[in-house]
Amino acid sequence: METFECRTIDIAPTISKLLEIPMVLPTGKPIPEVEAFTKGKPCKRAVIIIVDSLGYSLFRRLCPVMQNLQALAREGVLFKCKSPATHTSPAIASIFTGYFPEEHRIFSTGDIYVERAKDPENPKLKSIMEWAYQAGMKASAVIESEGAESFRGRIKEFYGVPDSEDILDYDRKITEYAVQALREKPDILAVHLRALDRFSHRADSWEELKKAAKAVDENLGEVFQNSQKGTIFFICGDHAVHGGQKWLKNATGEEVKNHQENLVALIAGCC
Ligand SMILES: [Zn+2]
Repeated sequence: METFECRTIDIAPTISKLLEIPMVLPTGKPIPEVEAFTKGKPCKRAVIIIVDSLGYSLFRRLCPVMQNLQALAREGVLFKCKSPATHTSPAIASIFTGYFPEEHRIFSTGDIYVERAKDPENPKLKSIMEWAYQAGMKASAVIESEGAESFRGRIKEFYGVPDSEDILDYDRKITEYAVQALREKPDILAVHLRALDRFSHRADSWEELKKAAKAVDENLGEVFQNSQKGTIFFICGDHAVHGGQKWLKNATGEEVKNHQENLVALIAGCC
């Protein structure tokens, strides 16, 4: 698989360009390889799925058990994608806004409210879903309840799932809501799957981690199957895997370097 390079802050401006969603141009830039890939294809809708902790090297290792994602990568474009943060909240805010954490200043879910209170129209706080909604398009988000609440009054459709000890069940619920959201034919949908991250913290063996990867992949497959034709998918990690020491034990020099540089996998493709 040929691999290109980009940054997670480039995802939002890429979607903006492909779907013609007007937005104040952020720090990120449209990804030329995605533009080239979609040329001549009817990409009218976009689905972003954040697979928590899907580092680039981790994806390469787990690829054999992630058949649906592997197939998307084979037909689409694979990137080594630089994430600007090692924690979930700032990393996801960068994916959604196209700005670096020091620009959007969202380091926790609560920060969204703090920063908005200072300036409700600050473009650096606005997700690509909100830009789409403002432009009269249909935007949807399926994430953890607290994060979902932050979309209240900002987009019309959002689905929240309460955090759970049973993370496989949590991801199942997220997927069910995602399928439900897709029935409304959104122009843009954002989804966050968390099982891989939770397992990376708590599991001790690759066998257990593979179990989570397989579950994530099945959920991805279900979203793919329920999407309209002409949908472009952006499947990406938010940061490299936590618990690096545990998972890097038998890593190659390149894997260690990818981890240190906080490179995540980004797969852009159509189903
Ligand atoms: Zn995360």
